[in-house]
Amino acid sequence: MTFEELPLIAPILKALKDKNYTEPTAIQAKAIPLVLDRNDVLGSAQTGTGKTAAFAIPIIQRIHEMEGGNGGKPQLLSLIVTPTRELAIQIDENIRLYSKYTNLKHTVIFGGVKQGSQVDKLKRGVHVLVATPGRLLDLISQGHISLNQIKIFVLDEADRMLDMGFVNDVKKLLTYLPKQRQSLFFSATMPTSILKLANEILTNPKKIEV
Ligand code: AMP
Repeated sequence: MTFEELPLIAPILKALKDKNYTEPTAIQAKAIPLVLDRNDVLGSAQTGTGKTAAFAIPIIQRIHEMEGGNGGKPQLLSLIVTPTRELAIQIDENIRLYSKYTNLKHTVIFGGVKQGSQVDKLKRGVHVLVATPGRLLDLISQGHISLNQIKIFVLDEADRMLDMGFVNDVKKLLTYLPKQRQSLFFSATMPTSILKLANEILTNPKKIEV
């Protein structure tokens, strides 16, 4: 199948064309329609499968549709949490590429660097925030980030997140998220501990395996 056969808006199709991407990968073909239809998703997929675009593309489209011609300060509508700085930067870069013909505002935050420029960007307003758990909780507790308008939450590489000892950070994070939201949960492996966490985050998820 081709991207043109998915119910995607013209600005996204144009950005994909610029990248010379014509066919969605297996996870993209499955996830994009499910996310656009506002389902929760439990995706079992490794890096390299096209997983990032599988959630980034429908999030960009959902926000484009929510925001319409709204010219005010962008509201934080989607949060993507991933375990490492490298992954966070990659995801943000993907969002930049696929949203280049939309008005979407996005940024990335991670630890190990000064927070000043991250806070400045947040102050100007973003629709999508990509974050690692520690810096995210720091900036929430300092009042620089509010999650109460989040419509779509993504937990990426959940197994690595737990392996790196982020379980309590993730649990704390959940207390800041609105109950009414769409959640997407991705993990390369699905041991019992991961399925338990997925159960706490997701509501009637559609399951995708690639
Ligand atoms: P990911 O699994 O998200 O890390 O993506 C793996 C690589 O595949 C990245 O370099 C992407 O830019 C690339 N990619 C993602 N989707 C497609 C696609 N539909 N066609 C060709 N390449 C893609």
